[in-house]
Amino acid sequence: MSAVRSAPVLPSTIRHAYIHVPFCPSICPYCDFHVLERRGDLVERYLERIEEEARMLAGQYDVQLDTLYLGGGTPSFLREGEMERLTASLRRHIGWGRLENTLEVNPGTVSPARATHWRGLGFDRASVGVQSLHDPTLRFLGRQHTARAAREAVGQLMGEGFRVSGDLITAVAGQPLEGDIAGLIALGVEHVSAYTLTIEPGTPFARQGVTVREEDEEQGFLQTEALLTAAGFGRYEVSNYARSPEAQSRHNRAYWTGEYFLGLGPGGAGSYPPSSPGERPFRRTNPHLHGWLAGEAGEVEPLSPQDVVTDALFMGLRLKGGLHLPTLSRRSGLDVAGRYAPVIAEQVRLGLLEHGGDTLRATPQGWWLLNRVVTAFLEYDEQGAAHPLAKGGTSSPKRA
Ligand code: SF4
Repeated sequence: MSAVRSAPVLPSTIRHAYIHVPFCPSICPYCDFHVLERRGDLVERYLERIEEEARMLAGQYDVQLDTLYLGGGTPSFLREGEMERLTASLRRHIGWGRLENTLEVNPGTVSPARATHWRGLGFDRASVGVQSLHDPTLRFLGRQHTARAAREAVGQLMGEGFRVSGDLITAVAGQPLEGDIAGLIALGVEHVSAYTLTIEPGTPFARQGVTVREEDEEQGFLQTEALLTAAGFGRYEVSNYARSPEAQSRHNRAYWTGEYFLGLGPGGAGSYPPSSPGERPFRRTNPHLHGWLAGEAGEVEPLSPQDVVTDALFMGLRLKGGLHLPTLSRRSGLDVAGRYAPVIAEQVRLGLLEHGGDTLRATPQGWWLLNRVVTAFLEYDEQGAAHPLAKGGTSSPKRA
């Protein structure tokens, strides 16, 4: 296993920022994000602390934002004056995205006046939590909005000139997915994110014993692609579809291609360049609200060269365009194509990866079994010379 000598080449300027707003009107039973119901005093303290955090990060890094993403939680649940304070703090310290500024929007929080206000503050893209256009499915998911409210919200946001992405949840028992997708297409959104319902430990759904059937999951995965591609959308990432290349999410693409980004707000995670020459890049995850308000430090995780490769595989293989191996080699300091040649060849033989020129891509089957693909690389790293592939053997297929 060899190493390349050139230093990592990512520029240390940070061009992307994620800001987490943890407040929601109510808590959905499948949600495992860091969220809580709104309390005025907490919002006030949140706004003060965000300003401090933005000031601190601007003092530590060269920040020139291309994209900014206000997510949550339900950022669109903030009141007008609160949103003005928040955006003013961000503009003052870390600036505003040159290319894209996304607001995550819950349909139940939209009105024509609010849409105008958000646009006036500088947001140009809205990621709308439609989830379904079928009222019984929305009720099952614990959503507070109706299908009609979701349609109206999308119309109002598009009327204000927002680029709109509609979020869908798939694999819900009894969900008329075809109707959901056809409804979103008819609304004219330029982008769709479709995620399978997953039951995370500790959520109300997990406690109630809700399950997702594998056949619903698989059917949702295949049907979503078939319907959206027939309507002219391109699938550019496992769960994301755009009407044109310009409609892709520039912010999320930064995650998938391994760029650095700031993470602000409680529970917010960021990816940062080395603090000084010889140090490692690192991830930092902020504490949850009360610790974050008290100024507790986030959890810092330095990234080894292998971590950089594993992250890149997990994220980059989600993209239809795949991973550019020489870029990953320069970034990690490892000769990725050489070091992992046997495992790449094996995954190609199994029909899960395609390796053409300098690019490594997942096949449609590889997308479906992505965990298994990345696990093969991890096992190869962990077992070194003891791994069967390192001895010239083959590994047997197993379920992800
Ligand atoms: S609105 Fe979104 S962030 Fe809030 S509880 Fe529901 S799923 Fe979670």
